[in-house]
Amino acid sequence: LTAEEQAVLDEIEEKNVDFLRLQFTDILGVVKNVSVPAHQAEKAFTEGIYFDGSSIEGFVRIQESDMRLVPDPDTFAVLPWRSDGDGDSGAARLICDIVDTDGEPFAGGPRQVLKSVLAEAEEMGYSVSIGPEPEFFLFEKDEDGNATTIPHDNGGYFDLAPKDLASDVRKEIIFTLEEMGFEIEASHHEVAEGQHEINFKYDDALSTADNIATFRAVVRAVAEQHDLHATFMPKPIADINGSGMHSHISLFDEDGNAFADDDDEFNLSETAYQFMGGILNHAPAFTAVTNPTVNSYKRLVPGYEAPIYVAWSDTNRSALVRVPDAAGVSARFEVRSPDPSCNPYLGMASLIAAGLDGIKTGADPGDPVREDIYEFDDEKRQEYGIETLPPNLGAAVEELEADEVLQEALGPHTSEKFAEAKSQEFSEYLTQVSQWEEDRYLETF
Ligand code: GLN
Ligand code: MG
Ligand code: MG
Ligand code: MG
Repeated sequence: LTAEEQAVLDEIEEKNVDFLRLQFTDILGVVKNVSVPAHQAEKAFTEGIYFDGSSIEGFVRIQESDMRLVPDPDTFAVLPWRSDGDGDSGAARLICDIVDTDGEPFAGGPRQVLKSVLAEAEEMGYSVSIGPEPEFFLFEKDEDGNATTIPHDNGGYFDLAPKDLASDVRKEIIFTLEEMGFEIEASHHEVAEGQHEINFKYDDALSTADNIATFRAVVRAVAEQHDLHATFMPKPIADINGSGMHSHISLFDEDGNAFADDDDEFNLSETAYQFMGGILNHAPAFTAVTNPTVNSYKRLVPGYEAPIYVAWSDTNRSALVRVPDAAGVSARFEVRSPDPSCNPYLGMASLIAAGLDGIKTGADPGDPVREDIYEFDDEKRQEYGIETLPPNLGAAVEELEADEVLQEALGPHTSEKFAEAKSQEFSEYLTQVSQWEEDRYLETF
């Protein structure tokens, strides 16, 4: 055992942990758990724990189903809420890597996909920092305990109690996250009724992806304890703001923040602009990954602070990339399109692969657009050379399939399985008859 692994065993002992939840995510970003008694920890570290990969969405075929979970000791955390039985025994989680029957890292595991992209960044001399801003809604449940879309409160942007009823729930979410080692930077009521945002400190991209997965689980668990339903669905209610997950990115090299240049008007370096250029070039293609549901595209419409146009700006929230007023170690930009329904590992991997390609090809993001692009007509957009994001999941998958850089970043296994799952999801959606259609047509025709 490594010193880190031994430290985990000691902590298990010391904190009376009885059960370990070995966690990983499937291709859709859904967190999966295999629960083992804590005395299996040593075996998990040395041999891994076998599980049947064929029953996991997007993993393997039945004939190659023996896979193992190998926990990353860095991710050990005692679960502050105890849903594992009688209540007097603690449970902890460990996030796992997946290895195949030959002991090789399984290339189709989302965490492995991100690790490969990060290895490439490292070869280029960079580590990647990402700070996410996940938004979510808190909804009431009905008397049968089912989720509704009735907002838990009717507060608005940065409102305080008493209108912001949910601030107690939010406080508890924050305490729970802090117990699990999160550093919370800020939290506030978002624009829409029942909508919230909690920002945790930026970290290396792998830790951030782990943190997003944990964050979603904690928010849901705490909401549940308050008889509320928390949702990361991107656009649960039409005609009001949806939930995004803006992602603040910077690269660090041995000299510090490689995105910083104090002499630049926006405090950004050449490297930062090239990375941004890569983001803009590949945005139509990575959208399928960062906005992976049918519902994601109901958020990416004009008028609700979500981007549709592939452009950057320092002021304008209708642009895909926004440069906040920050310099030096904090110099960075914000990609505003991702939403919190994405697989955080694949989402971050796609953004980073796009940006790294921008550095490799010396991509140029062009000039910032300072006007409200929502107000532009097609002609003006053409004049400015501004592209739009794909209008729906089907179109997004086509863009993804046509982009070699992203195909390579995801790897043959994941890109194929992902496109397959998402095309199917979109086809299924197309055959549905919605309430809107009924309201519009039933009595007219
Ligand atoms: N909710 C908006 C979105 O969909 C963002 C609003 C904000 O953070 N200012 O991205
Ligand atoms: Mg924010
Ligand atoms: Mg926000
Ligand atoms: Mg933001």
